[in-house]
Amino acid sequence: MRQDLTIKSKPASPKPSIVRCASCDGFGWFEDDFGGESAYCDWCAGVGYVYHRDGRDSAIPKADYEAVAEELEGLEQKRLRELGYQGAAKKPWQQQIRKDTQLGRNPYADGDT
Ligand SMILES: [Zn+2]
Repeated sequence: MRQDLTIKSKPASPKPSIVRCASCDGFGWFEDDFGGESAYCDWCAGVGYVYHRDGRDSAIPKADYEAVAEELEGLEQKRLRELGYQGAAKKPWQQQIRKDTQLGRNPYADGDT
């Protein structure tokens, strides 16, 4: 039986999910605590996020940046919120380190922020 190889291709993998880079934890780079130099993370090519597909992580190719930009933006905002960063100077109650102290309470919050 003859097979037409031109149309027989591996089924496309499902869209990979995007996960935080395990190596740099989403930062995309490392800072040298001593020299003050920073270096891009090799694992994610400085993006801070990687594709997670079939149980493996791989760097997001540059060609895909545009397609995933929105998703990355969402992930990044989520990450920064986790860090207590909202794009402005941190209020004391937004700083993770103060979370369980008196200063960690938002005096303006109505309870759910
Ligand atoms: Zn990384």
